[in-house]
Amino acid sequence: VFQLSLPLNFLGTVYRELRQSLIDMDTLFNLQSVGTTIKDAPNAKPLALTKGGEIRFENVAFGYHKDRPIFRDVSFTIPAGTKVGIVGPSGCGKSTVFRLLFRFYEPSSGKIFIDGQELHDIELESLRKEIGVVPQETPLFHSDIMHNIRYGRLDATDDEVKEAARLANVDRTIESLPDKWKTKVGERGMMISGGEKQRMAVARVLLKDPKILFFDEATSALDSTTEVDLMRNINQTLLSKARTSIFIAHRLKTVADADLIIVLRDGRVAEQGTHSELMSRGGLYRSMWDQQNSTLQELDEAEAVNEAR
Ligand code: ATP
Repeated sequence: VFQLSLPLNFLGTVYRELRQSLIDMDTLFNLQSVGTTIKDAPNAKPLALTKGGEIRFENVAFGYHKDRPIFRDVSFTIPAGTKVGIVGPSGCGKSTVFRLLFRFYEPSSGKIFIDGQELHDIELESLRKEIGVVPQETPLFHSDIMHNIRYGRLDATDDEVKEAARLANVDRTIESLPDKWKTKVGERGMMISGGEKQRMAVARVLLKDPKILFFDEATSALDSTTEVDLMRNINQTLLSKARTSIFIAHRLKTVADADLIIVLRDGRVAEQGTHSELMSRGGLYRSMWDQQNSTLQELDEAEAVNEAR
C-alpha cells in the first residue's frame, strides 16, 4: 500500500503544481521525469533551428480523453520570426497548442513540425530549451527574488539576473523593497502584485532567451494601464530580437497588430489572416471583435452614468 500510494500522492502534487504554472513544467518534467510517458525516440536528434523557428501543425487531432476531442483536424503554419495570435472561444484549445508543442502530450493523429523536424524526432531537452513562456499566473517559489528570476537560466550570474530585471522594468521595484534582491516571495513571502510578477516572468524568459516565445494572456489579473504597460515592455524587450512569438489572447486588441491571427473553433481552424483581412471577412473573428468592443463600450457608458450621479 505504501509503495503504491506514495508515488500517486507525489504525482498528484506534481500534477497540481504543473497546472499552476506552465513555466515550471519543463523543469519539473526534466528533473523528475514523471507525469509523462513521453520520452525521446531512439533516433531523436537535437532540434536544429535552421529556419529560425517555423511551426507547422499538419492535420492534428487530439483530446485529453478519448471520447472528447479538442482538436479534430488542425493545420496551420507559423512562419519563423513572426508574431502570431491564437484566439477563439473559451475552451477551444488555445493553451493546448502550447502543451502539444512542448510535447506534454502527443497528437492522436497528424504531425507537428519545427523547422521541418517532426516533434517526435527531436530530443525533448533541446525542444524545451528553445521555447519560453510568460504564463497567465507567474509562479513564484518561496525563496528570494534573485533565485526566482534566475530560474529562467540557472547558471546566470547575479549581474545577468539584474540586467534582465532592468530590461523587464522591475528592477526599481525590487531595489525599493527592504531586503532588495534577498526579499522572500512566494507562499508566506512578500506580497507582489500581478503586474510585478508578470514582469519577473518576462525577466526569466529574457534570461532563457528562447527562439520561440509563448505569451499566455491573463484573463483578468491586470488593470488596463498595467496591461498596456506590460505589452509595451514585452514589445521592447522580448520582441526586439527575432523570435517566433505566439500570443494566446483573450482580448483581441492584444493581437490586432499580429502578422497572423489563427481563430480556433470546434476542433478546427475556423479562419486565419491579419486583423484587417479577418474584419472584412465578417466571420467569427469579426463577431468576437464587435462583441468585445460593445462590451467595452457598455462598461464605459455605465461608468459615465455612475460618474454623472
Ligand atoms: P481558455 O480560453 O478558457 O483559457 P483554451 O482555449 O486555452 O481556454 P485549453 O486550456 O486548451 O482551452 O483547453 C481545451 C479544453 O480541454 C477545455 O475544455 C479544457 O477543459 C480541457 N482540458 C484542458 N486541460 C485538460 C486536462 N489536463 N485534462 C482534461 N481536460 C483538459
